[in-house]
Amino acid sequence: MISPGDVIEGAFVPPELIGPSWDAAEELAKEALAIEDGAADASSALVALVRHFGQAGLLGLVAPRSAGGTFESVRSVALCLTRERLGFSSPLLDLAFTMQGLGSHPIVLAGDEEQQARHLPGVLSGEHVAAFALTEPEAGSDLGGIATTATREGDEYVLRGEKIWISNAPIADIFTVFAATAPEGARRRLSAFVVKRGTPGLSTEAQEVLGGHPIGRVRLDGVRVPAIERLGEEGDGMRAALGTLHRFRTTVGAAAVGFAARALVEATNHVKTREQFGAPLAALQAVQMRIADMACDVDASRLLVYRAAALADAGAPRDEVSRCGSMAKLVATESAQRVIDHGVQLLGGRGVATDGVLGRLYQEVRALRIYEGTTDVQKMLIARAVLDA
Ligand SMILES: Cc1cc2nc3c(=O)[nH]c(=O)nc-3n(C[C@H](O)[C@H](O)[C@H](O)COP(=O)(O)OP(=O)(O)OC[C@H]3O[C@@H](n4cnc5c(N)ncnc54)[C@H](O)[C@@H]3O)c2cc1C
Repeated sequence: MISPGDVIEGAFVPPELIGPSWDAAEELAKEALAIEDGAADASSALVALVRHFGQAGLLGLVAPRSAGGTFESVRSVALCLTRERLGFSSPLLDLAFTMQGLGSHPIVLAGDEEQQARHLPGVLSGEHVAAFALTEPEAGSDLGGIATTATREGDEYVLRGEKIWISNAPIADIFTVFAATAPEGARRRLSAFVVKRGTPGLSTEAQEVLGGHPIGRVRLDGVRVPAIERLGEEGDGMRAALGTLHRFRTTVGAAAVGFAARALVEATNHVKTREQFGAPLAALQAVQMRIADMACDVDASRLLVYRAAALADAGAPRDEVSRCGSMAKLVATESAQRVIDHGVQLLGGRGVATDGVLGRLYQEVRALRIYEGTTDVQKMLIARAVLDA
């Protein structure tokens, strides 16, 4: 059987980078699973996992060395390896890791030295849980519809509006919030701000989604934010938002590969041991066809994910990284849904048990085809890149 390392090497990722990142995530995943199992609910598990990853130094992967991070710059391959390995163990482990990255990346991209020194240590140590607050009730795929405003009043901005479907909203300590500082139709309309929980006027409300994902609304009702918490210049917000999504889109594909690889392992173990009609299910050709389809989907997705990540780390042109990242996210998330569905089918009744691995993956994988750019939006971007070439 080909190991993930072999396949990733085939996507031109240097072997010396694969070993340490993969092994570190694997080692940590074991302890982290015990933390998740012992927690009362998903929210308290997530907070404990973030602390654990911070103490172990894993969160250093989400910032450059100049801001206390692991490598000189944030490396996509390391993020992907970590997400794949954590996602293989549990979707919540993956979420705890990645949201620290997504929520703080605008600070990495657009924050000045003082802002990075003020906010990133808490994120990297796991003391502060981060959230990325972009989506609104009337602005999902089309960010032109953002209605949250930030109005300058002296040395402060006053934020008014509402964000929706924000991962970590119920538990986050700091939020990167995107709001309009210029009227509708203006160029460079959005600006990005760091807002702390506890700031008067900021409130959150939990929402329920499939799986155990802490998520919710963020209401900004006249929230006063010091101007020194604006990231970059006025109008830099869209660039910070898209730059963050550009970096993390491929890593969503990596998480999907982790989920799918786990489904393949669970299904393979099951069909080898479960006997029906006097023989293991694995002896049936129809079952073998499903296993073959699953294995091909996992490896094909992995190659696309690590190609995109390796290109990003090698400094390939932005358009190329973007097209390959969209392809990786699209193919890996769509195929993970298929692989997990096959896995559920192969486990029969056990596949839909809500406390089983497959039942849980079946619920968790769905959102990956929606957030950080839906499948349809990825197709639009890929088609545009191909047609413009
Ligand atoms: C579990 C989960 C976690 C999330 N976490 C975060 C978070 O942490 N921070 C954050 O800011 N947001 C988050 N989101 C929001 C997510 O990014 C949006 O849901 C997503 O961008 C889609 O926006 P929407 O829900 O408004 O759907 P819409 O944009 O209304 O889209 C609805 C449908 O129309 C399709 N569509 C829209 N435009 C086009 C087009 N041009 N061509 C073809 N089809 C189109 C879409 O593909 C989709 O199928 C999260 C969402 C979920 C489900």
